[in-house]
Amino acid sequence: MEHAAKCVIDAQQLVKIYQNGSEELKVLDDVSLQVFKGDFMAILGPSGSGKSTLMNILGCLDLPSSGQYSLDGLDVLKASENELAEIRNIKIGFIFQKFNLLPRLTAVQNVMLPLLYRGVKEEEALGLAREKLTLLGLEARLHHRPNELSGGQQQRVAIARAIIGNPQLLLADEPTGNLDSKSSEDAMRIFKELNAQGNTILIITHDTEVAEQVDKIVYIRDGKIYENH
Ligand code: ADP
Ligand code: MG
Repeated sequence: MEHAAKCVIDAQQLVKIYQNGSEELKVLDDVSLQVFKGDFMAILGPSGSGKSTLMNILGCLDLPSSGQYSLDGLDVLKASENELAEIRNIKIGFIFQKFNLLPRLTAVQNVMLPLLYRGVKEEEALGLAREKLTLLGLEARLHHRPNELSGGQQQRVAIARAIIGNPQLLLADEPTGNLDSKSSEDAMRIFKELNAQGNTILIITHDTEVAEQVDKIVYIRDGKIYENH
């Protein structure tokens, strides 16, 4: 008997309006989206289409102006700050378009953080972080701070940090945007491996080559979602 996959992301009619002085900018317009456990999915759209705004809402970092959103069965719009913090720190791995690495921490310290949130002992976290960075070709950069790393290296640190805790859901905003084609292939291979272990992966990108490597694509244009072009 086939079991229906569990719905991890269930967003209905999301609207996001930014207020610029007296002007209103509707950046998400009635976005409904479902992502199921084990999905390897991409949202593909041009710059300015609302991708990062959508990711921030799906990651519980921002609230929609209206709509409904439930994540892993929890009604996000009614959740307490503690519940949201737990989701952000433990359930989701984030790769941000601008990396959001902590500038005063070294590469290995940045990557350890999600493990420390999960209560892993410092020494063990250090070992795991070192291992992950080595896998990503950064063994010679463990103790460098973000401003001593190239864009591509920072992105790989961000990828390592996002996946180190084996999050149930990985949200990645332009994860290959600063990588050369070889590193970009490496990153996609890592995401595929993670997905094969059962993790749900949602990649947000403007890069059609990246989108072609996932199992399911939806399109975003001017804040609206399309299942087909
Ligand atoms: P994408 O990630 O697809 O490039 P964004 O979600 O970053 O798109 O932005 C979509 C639109 O919303 C753009 O026109 C952008 O200028 C605008 N925007 C994004 N963030 C804000 C904000 N905090 N305040 C006002 N406008 C914003
Ligand atoms: Mg963006």
